[in-house]
Amino acid sequence: MKIVVQVRLFPDAAQQVALQATLKLCNEAANVASELAYQRGVFGKQSLQRLTYGQLKDMGLSAQPAIHVARKVSGAYAALKANIAAGHLGKPGSPRRRAVEGRPVRFRRAAAQPFDDRCLSWQLAARTVSIWTVNGRSGPIRFSCSEAQYATLARYRQGESDLVHRDGMWFLYATCDIPDTPTRQPDGFLGVDLGIANLASDSDGRRHSGKAVNRARHRDQRLRTKLQALGTKSAKRLLKKRRRKESRFAADVNHRIAKTIVTEAERTGRGIALEDLGGIRDRVRLRRPQRVTLHSWAFAQLGQYIAYKAKRAAVAVVHVNPAYTSQQCSACGHIAKANRPNQSTFRCRSCGFAEHADRNAACNIAARGVTRWVSVSMPNAA
Ligand SMILES: [Zn+2]
Repeated sequence: MKIVVQVRLFPDAAQQVALQATLKLCNEAANVASELAYQRGVFGKQSLQRLTYGQLKDMGLSAQPAIHVARKVSGAYAALKANIAAGHLGKPGSPRRRAVEGRPVRFRRAAAQPFDDRCLSWQLAARTVSIWTVNGRSGPIRFSCSEAQYATLARYRQGESDLVHRDGMWFLYATCDIPDTPTRQPDGFLGVDLGIANLASDSDGRRHSGKAVNRARHRDQRLRTKLQALGTKSAKRLLKKRRRKESRFAADVNHRIAKTIVTEAERTGRGIALEDLGGIRDRVRLRRPQRVTLHSWAFAQLGQYIAYKAKRAAVAVVHVNPAYTSQQCSACGHIAKANRPNQSTFRCRSCGFAEHADRNAACNIAARGVTRWVSVSMPNAA
């Protein structure tokens, strides 16, 4: 599987100037290529490369960076197409959809730029890299990473790395290709219930509160509304910055939750059972203040992080039908709406079993995981 190792760069003043100028030029070139692609309707990697190569070289890019710029543009249009197809950008003809379809993709001045081994060399032992820049090849630029990251880089780094400039810091996101390990046969399942008050609750009773995230979301939502109303150029820039910061915060929280869950499953030799969230937005009818939370919160991302970390740890993951997981008694199986008198309480009307509502739901998910695993791992038995 492919993973990304992030290392921080420490360029000196001259190197910093060169890196900045390089990203700027690469993204100006990307915008030129994007405009051409849009006008001519040419989006394929090879064909866009042929169409733009000469012009990109004339702008001062050498061969490899020019090719990477064309590929980056082609990739951005492919991602846009996939997003449109997945319905993330609204229905056909909606204002949002028309806006993204009605103009070429734009790249920020400091948007990330990929470098391959011909324009970026790693001196791992010395913990330095040298990079092609518009001012010529840079001298050794110092980088830092953890011991674990170092080991991964040394064994598995392969192909491209992205140069990223954000919040005044420089990073390389290096792609590493790690061989897959076969999933271990699970001894039972750890069930995980995703929700709003608690982002994730597991069948052992651990709850990851959503308070901090929800508070940040609502605060950001208010600020966003204000900024959108202003509509000035600087407000728009601030808006974009906030959005990126917000998604980094969400990603960070998701990473931590995913890590706790996967570590616990690995330690106890269990698999992980998650709800199949295909229809969570349609399924849950919410009061208005919660709608903000749910729509902006990336549940799907948490599922992805868990799947990814689980795969690395050879932990099995199954997705189960989420119907009635919150109304069903995990002790006797009785299903009734009245079993759950409020958000946090579960009390079975049939057998009297009482538990935190989220843990009860997670236990149901764990039990369904066992059944699901049988049909996934032994399809012929069913
Ligand atoms: Zn019961």
